[in-house]
Amino acid sequence: MAVSAADYDVLIRNGRVIDGTGNPWYRADVGLKDGRIAAIGNLASKSADRTIDAAGRVVTPGFIDVHTHVEGAVELNPMGANYILDGVTTIVTGNCGGSRVDLKEWFEKLEKIKLGLNLATLIGHNSVRREVMGTANRLATDEEIVKMQALVDKAMQDGAVGFSTGLIYVPGTFSDTREVVALAKAASKYNAVYASHMRDEGDKVKEAITEAVTVGREAGLRVEISHFKIDTPRIWGFSKETIALVENFRKQGVDVVVDQYPYDHSSTNLGITLPSWALADGQKAIEERLASPETRRRVAAEMKQRLAELGHKDYSYAIVANYGPDASYNGKNISEINKGAGRAATVDNEIETILGMIVKGGAQMVYHSMGMEDVERILRYPNTAIASDGGIREFGSGMPHPRSYGTNARVLAEFVRNRGTLTLEDAVRRMTSLPARTFRFMDRGLLREGYAADVLVFDPARVKDVSTYQDPHHYTEGFDYVLVNGQAVVSEGKLNEVRPGRILRHKAE
Ligand SMILES: [Zn+2]
Repeated sequence: MAVSAADYDVLIRNGRVIDGTGNPWYRADVGLKDGRIAAIGNLASKSADRTIDAAGRVVTPGFIDVHTHVEGAVELNPMGANYILDGVTTIVTGNCGGSRVDLKEWFEKLEKIKLGLNLATLIGHNSVRREVMGTANRLATDEEIVKMQALVDKAMQDGAVGFSTGLIYVPGTFSDTREVVALAKAASKYNAVYASHMRDEGDKVKEAITEAVTVGREAGLRVEISHFKIDTPRIWGFSKETIALVENFRKQGVDVVVDQYPYDHSSTNLGITLPSWALADGQKAIEERLASPETRRRVAAEMKQRLAELGHKDYSYAIVANYGPDASYNGKNISEINKGAGRAATVDNEIETILGMIVKGGAQMVYHSMGMEDVERILRYPNTAIASDGGIREFGSGMPHPRSYGTNARVLAEFVRNRGTLTLEDAVRRMTSLPARTFRFMDRGLLREGYAADVLVFDPARVKDVSTYQDPHHYTEGFDYVLVNGQAVVSEGKLNEVRPGRILRHKAE
């Protein structure tokens, strides 16, 4: 590499600096050198190899998305374009209990491939449990807990930032609080975070919040409640009480915060519409169970009851995102698919349609399950960080939830610009320093001298999400410059062929 006589590698001039703290913007130049922020201030007399004129635009820290699922996809699309173009420079994967277990090997592989953005991971309860117990529907024995603890400990040594659970999913849903606490304890000496996809986000959400806080309190971990929401139409509005409960725990001294994606549709698999006992022991066991008329009736009866409890009159709220055996289902809801198959529009028939799809391996889904009143109230709560709960998308494939493409831009366009729910500075704080604090990325999430040079330049009047439920495969527009570790991955809105991302291995303090 040629040695440059210039003061900086990159000099961003004339921008309004929004530093990530939530404080109001100020006017300053930002000088970057060797992947770090070298200076912030009046740098008019300084030279640089490359100058970016940010007049009329803001300069912010790169966004940190602490809730993603990129296992399997990041290897195929290491640039992570859908995230980069939405301003994300760091992702945390391994959420909802699902992660790689062999982190040392995986990190080494990703470092060889080279990523467009920085990546950190949690170690997932479900993945660890699957490794030790398969998908058995029972509590863990003491010996099994010791084996799982060893896997968590190893992953933390290899650099995981914390421990995650997905307590609605098989097999984590078969665990009790004692098991989760025991595994969280294996992470506690590493100054870790506990990221919880809770056991319930509807009727029993208060019990679920209490369980998540109990795990954090007993194991000595900070608690991040993932994709905080009310997913049950019958109790829309209940976020008033759940936020008060979180605040109450904070008053007691528990370090608990939440994250949220700014949409009223959720996304997960089709299996969650079934009782979890029906999903134990793998696909073959599921098929055998559903082949027994008596068991199938029991499954259907529980599904029907659950549907009513949630407050839905049919399955039109459940929209197929990706169904392997028949792509023509993608984008249609279960009621439409049921009718399309020539069946009468009854809940019983729709349940049969779902069970038919489960036998063929299931599907990825989008669910219209939240109310905007709750979404906006949770967004206003000061300890809510912005996180997508999305993944790295293969452009054009399936009908994924738009959150993977447009989470941050949607907050800035819809909730800052249109609705005025948040100030620009506060929105940026929730995308930068708030998640950095909880996940202990000590040199990211703020514009400060010495910090890593993850920096965005954009016009807050122009940035917008383009991805929709009906037409998801569109990148966000308006993030003109995205710099990762000092290198421009996006220049004037166009992707460059550089991949300067790093693996962020957690260090115990
Ligand atoms: Zn989740």
